[in-house]
Amino acid sequence: MSKVKVKNPLVEMDGDEMTRVMWKMVKQELLLPFLDINLDYYDLGIENRDRTDDQITVEAAEAIKRHKVGVKCATITPESKRVKEYNLKKQWPSPNGTIRGILGGTVFRSPILVTNVKPAVRSWKKPIVIGRHAYGDVYANVEIAVPGPGLAELVFSPEGGGEPVRKTIHKFASPGVIQGMHNLDSSIADFARACFMYGADCKVDVWLGAKDTISKTYDGRFREIFTRIYEQEFKESFDKLGITFFFTLIDDAVARVMKGEGGFLWACKNYDGDVMSDMLASAFGSLAMMTSVLVSPEGCYEFEAAHGTVQRHYYKHQAGEKTSTNPMALIFAWSGALRKRGELDGSPEVGRFAQLLETAAVSAIEDGLMTGDMVKIAEPTPSNFLLTDEFILEIASKLKKKF
Ligand code: NAP
Ligand code: MG
Repeated sequence: MSKVKVKNPLVEMDGDEMTRVMWKMVKQELLLPFLDINLDYYDLGIENRDRTDDQITVEAAEAIKRHKVGVKCATITPESKRVKEYNLKKQWPSPNGTIRGILGGTVFRSPILVTNVKPAVRSWKKPIVIGRHAYGDVYANVEIAVPGPGLAELVFSPEGGGEPVRKTIHKFASPGVIQGMHNLDSSIADFARACFMYGADCKVDVWLGAKDTISKTYDGRFREIFTRIYEQEFKESFDKLGITFFFTLIDDAVARVMKGEGGFLWACKNYDGDVMSDMLASAFGSLAMMTSVLVSPEGCYEFEAAHGTVQRHYYKHQAGEKTSTNPMALIFAWSGALRKRGELDGSPEVGRFAQLLETAAVSAIEDGLMTGDMVKIAEPTPSNFLLTDEFILEIASKLKKKF
């Protein structure tokens, strides 16, 4: 059996706990036997981050900038309990936050669909990819508790002089609250580009919902910038792919999402994305079936599972017990990264391998062979579940047959 050659390096970021255990198995059983690949490896496990004063995370992000594609295992974001548990020098920041700080960009999440798990919304047949604009709005707001009568104004004072712009928010006669928020044209434009780039990658329509009938200036700006960037930079390529950009009011978007069959990318303002991504994750079935990708404005891609390190399962594993932990999102992080690598390298055979891997994994579940979390939501209910390693070996055997 000759291996598939991957031309350029892929940045690999190892992680923590149960996902680290599965990561190793996935590589050993599902990747290395089939691929001739150069992995630029960074150990983002908590111990190594501590040892390197977190420099390793910065180096990994720089490597993604160089090679354009990375795949990341889930990692511990330490709080005080973890500082004690691992005897850490300090409470290191979230690696995802650090990497995003360096690359910029937008995180898209999409569910892995299998025919024997029915989404809570009956009409959904295809994944809904959701992108959240993780900048500004209410997450960077300022608020004042108004104690009693007085005037609340919105004031902008231009740098270097000029008349300030003032608007009355409210003339208070009794106690209340006020809030100020902002956004940046540059951030909205980066968000729009990431959405259109990833929409084109997935060959799906891009939807944006906002409330520009009420918020003519603020939400209106999102609509304007998206429309302009679409027309100027993406319309031509979208036309060729047979996809389009669709703007609608946010309430109409939500109504359509619930009635539609999925198969589009939903660009969400910050708050909408926060709320809707959790709704979609739970309506599609399971966190263990949700993948995530960071797309930077320069076209760098970082793939990962949306879930964490599955700490509870890891403690069982450490105690010598067998676990039934679902590796699907990890596997799809690898297949997503390989597909992108193949695309950028002009190596369709790498994309074909990614597809084979996904098909093998999905067909295992559709054959009724799955981990415990899936048994709870699959129809018909399988009579038993597989352990983590049994499930990975089952996928490996399917993959070998198809390879
Ligand atoms: P988690 O790892 O996502 O797991 C929460 C629960 O969801 C698990 O206990 C398990 O439920 C279920 N679950 C998640 N993934 C599963 C899988 N693959 N297979 C089966 N069940 C799965 O969240 P957490 O336990 O709250 O967080 C653990 C650590 O992960 C934290 O240190 C956090 O900082 C980190 N984290 C990292 C990332 C990242 O790197 N992107 C994201 C989130 C959290 P049951 O226990 O009921 O079986
Ligand atoms: Mg949320």
